[in-house]
Amino acid sequence: LKYLTNLRINNPDFINLPHKPNHSIINQQLINHINNINNETCLPGEENSFFIGDLGELDNLFKNWKLQLPRIQPFYAVKCNPNPIILKRLASFGVNFDCASKLEIETILKMGISPDRIIYANPCKMSSFIRFAKESNVLKSTFDNIEELYKIKKFHPNSQLFLRIATDDSTAQCRLSTKYGADLENVRDLIAKCKELDLNLHGVSFHVGSGANDFSTLYKATRDAKWVFDIAENEFNMPPLKTLDVGGGFQLDSFKEATHVLNMALDEFFPIESNVQIIAEPGRYFVASTFTLATNVIAKRKVNNEESMIYINDGVYGNMNCILFDHQEPVPRTLYHNKQFHYFNNESTSKTQTKEHPYKVSIWGPTCDGLDCITKEYYMKHDLVIGDWLYFPDLGAYTSSAATAFNGFEQAATIVFIDENGEVVKE
Ligand code: PLP
Repeated sequence: LKYLTNLRINNPDFINLPHKPNHSIINQQLINHINNINNETCLPGEENSFFIGDLGELDNLFKNWKLQLPRIQPFYAVKCNPNPIILKRLASFGVNFDCASKLEIETILKMGISPDRIIYANPCKMSSFIRFAKESNVLKSTFDNIEELYKIKKFHPNSQLFLRIATDDSTAQCRLSTKYGADLENVRDLIAKCKELDLNLHGVSFHVGSGANDFSTLYKATRDAKWVFDIAENEFNMPPLKTLDVGGGFQLDSFKEATHVLNMALDEFFPIESNVQIIAEPGRYFVASTFTLATNVIAKRKVNNEESMIYINDGVYGNMNCILFDHQEPVPRTLYHNKQFHYFNNESTSKTQTKEHPYKVSIWGPTCDGLDCITKEYYMKHDLVIGDWLYFPDLGAYTSSAATAFNGFEQAATIVFIDENGEVVKE
């Protein structure tokens, strides 16, 4: 395990596959979009923040998944970003879906996707939602407690059940095992109850936490899942479980390391000859780097010659709620300053003051709440002015899906989708 944990540091092979950097995606149409917004004359809303959705990036991410995890069928976690164009594109690749609520299930079914491509991956479900899943013929779902089994027995006894086990997610950006997952000491009771109620225990699932970076957890969780498979078969004389669900938590930055560890663990505990089907529930991996947020500088308060407070039209109550809920730290970059585009130059910014970055800024969202702060300290090349545009790369995961219109500020409704050549896609 120590070896696994140190992989990144010691192994020069762990350079991730190149993916298209977000910085290259602004094209002429987007320049026109911004140029057409005249701060002096525009109507309320015309200078709203907007997203750039890079479908070429999504294609690359999917190809990368197939390359690194050929055995694993992804079920995209809809909660992460339920944009219909993204869902449609992923469905067309053959990606399936992890839904956690009635509305998410409905969204996927309305796209004409078959219910057997859905896993209802929420271990604590409303009874009415379980009845909805039954009516909709969604069979796969997760559980981690006995009370849930009674509900399932009553409302959806033909479910294909995945026993979700807890993992050690103490180093993850967003922990999940504090809320969900059965401890291994409770596994026997849960399997016994499945048997007593004559329920269909189909597999085991886990989630190592969203934004996980200790990959030995993936190894340990796979090993624990194998232990559950063995107990069910050998101690409870159940037919062999069919499917292992390795959850989500994958990130582009560490994908190669994580998948290396996971593939090793699968080879050891669930080799191909075991005929166990492997699925996963990635969210963040597919959408984080697919979206860039562009925001307008709406106000400025000068603190002194080299320091200002900058106010932009999106923030913690809007698309950057991920600062609070998901522990993300959006990185500001200059898109447009003093009526000139800086995007092509990959305009750098810095967390510390340098000769190149003399201008200190704090960046604030538009609401009247003091909590609405995007960053307390960043250093820019230019002294930003009202009407400038900033962009924030990698803001596709857990952003727009949880944005509010608090204080009357609408969330960014516009998403400009572009293809692999940077051309605007009209869907
Ligand atoms: N599956 C479940 C049950 C989750 O709770 C989550 C995230 O909260 C995911 C999948 C997606 O995780 P990630 O976006 O880290 O891949």
